[in-house]
Amino acid sequence: MKLILLGAPGAGKGTVAKMLTQLDGSVQISTGDILRGAVQAGTPLGKEAEAFMKRGDLVPDQLILGIMENRLQEPDCKKGFLLDGFPRTIPQADALKVLLARLNIKLDMAVNIDVPRQVILDRLTTRRTCSNTKCQAIYNVKSMPPKKTGICDKCGSPVVQREDETEAAISHRLDTYNSKTAPLIGFYEKEDLLITVNATSSEAVIATIKQRLAA
Ligand code: AMP
Repeated sequence: MKLILLGAPGAGKGTVAKMLTQLDGSVQISTGDILRGAVQAGTPLGKEAEAFMKRGDLVPDQLILGIMENRLQEPDCKKGFLLDGFPRTIPQADALKVLLARLNIKLDMAVNIDVPRQVILDRLTTRRTCSNTKCQAIYNVKSMPPKKTGICDKCGSPVVQREDETEAAISHRLDTYNSKTAPLIGFYEKEDLLITVNATSSEAVIATIKQRLAA
């Protein structure tokens, strides 16, 4: 399947993407994970992106577009992909449309995961992430803690709170989402690709996606 996952930070895009990869071998492409990997590795991309990310600002469109142009042409994308965190602005969506047309790739749909702001705030302040950039497994201190406190079940690395998940950065990320990313809902509605799912459980989101893909 070839999907765009839209939704505010904390809406569950990453969790849903990981679950969907189990269905048909489509790959999850998370621009946030790619950028955090680059920051930790100290690459030129990471150095450029780091300050934007810490503040909860978006990194410049050109940086992201360069990453995505290469990533979408890698062989593992042939089976399908789940775009998690991209596009995030109208210029990114315009550029993606041009890129996909050039690569002769047709999207199945753009899924807007719509979750109330209070649920998002609760989730983000209690979310913890594996610090190993090759893993980045997600936990929640309230609802899904790791078996051993502070240690990733999957790879044994420390589980940490992301630097952009302090209350101030979260609030800024949500404002950025509302001003820059929420307009994509209208964009994909016009493209006739949008479905909106109002569900706080990832299983319910997956069930709706499967149903719509089969229709
Ligand atoms: P995420 O893990 O998707 O919440 O992304 C973490 C941070 O990475 C965001 O707050 C941005 O600073 C940056 N980022 C991720 N994806 C994009 C994108 N498509 N465009 C611009 N910045 C991005």
